[in-house]
Amino acid sequence: MTQSPTISLNNGVEIPQLGFGVFQIDPEDTVAAVGKALDVGYRHIDTAAMYGNEKEVGQAIHDSGLARDDVFVTSKLNNDAHGYDEALAAFDASLERLGLDHVDLYLIHWPQPGNDRYVDTWRAFEKIYADGRAKSIGVSNFEPNHLHRLIAETDVVPAVNQVEVHPTFTQDELRAVHSDLGIVTEAWSPLGQADDLDNDTVKRVARSRDKTTAQVVLRWHLQRGDVVFPKSVTPERIEANFDVFDFELSSTDMADIDAMDEGNRMGPHPDQMNT
Ligand code: NDP
Repeated sequence: MTQSPTISLNNGVEIPQLGFGVFQIDPEDTVAAVGKALDVGYRHIDTAAMYGNEKEVGQAIHDSGLARDDVFVTSKLNNDAHGYDEALAAFDASLERLGLDHVDLYLIHWPQPGNDRYVDTWRAFEKIYADGRAKSIGVSNFEPNHLHRLIAETDVVPAVNQVEVHPTFTQDELRAVHSDLGIVTEAWSPLGQADDLDNDTVKRVARSRDKTTAQVVLRWHLQRGDVVFPKSVTPERIEANFDVFDFELSSTDMADIDAMDEGNRMGPHPDQMNT
């Protein structure tokens, strides 16, 4: 069976570069979608307390019969659980829902700078990490100033920063900051929630390679070196999105897709997510 390549995090842990995202998958559809993903070869699932489907993600992993160590599981701390004690309790609740004794990666979902609690939250993450209940810890939606402050005031450098990245929002300045700090970029909404698939450049490259537009965009992410986890509830798409390891984009294709950047942020700016 085809396998995703892995990337080494700053603590030596290997993360499968292509995973499966479950944001906006209804709990009643989650067991089937994650089951299909595991069946076609995905070994990395990206969920969150906020998504309301951790229980079903855990169920699908259990039902797959795969060994726990063969599946990389990420979850995220909800925005209402910032603070040291609150974060420890929220982590316990996530593990309970997942039916697991550890996650592979635990993230602060949003920094919520207006509440000014992410440093305390991170100290709880450091404890969870030291106790071995999260094999790696990281952040999501952190801007450079949030990363610099966290690194200055605490001990563990985040392994990843999961941020919005897709061809019309390439985030190259932030990705350069990550490289300097030894932080891996994880690209959320990698297909631009499917909007970026309708672009003429992507369509032209897809035609020239005899691939789908989604396969071309996923290949662009992989060749840039980011971790990526497209979401789909459609079995054919789940399968096709994982079938991206038998071709390569040329440097010209890559440059043409890079040139699609138009600062098209689709989600909220992190500084505006304070509730
Ligand atoms: P994506 O860019 O993955 O796009 C998902 C959309 O694209 C769905 O409408 C899906 O439709 C469609 N789609 C998927 N594959 C194809 C295909 N091959 N052809 C055509 N359309 C396709 O957006 P998401 O926002 O879901 O992001 C992916 C993941 O990123 C999330 O699931 C989550 O894990 C993470 N994320 C993290 C955030 C954070 O704040 N940390 C915020 C947002 C996302 P359908 O399902 O109907 O097939």
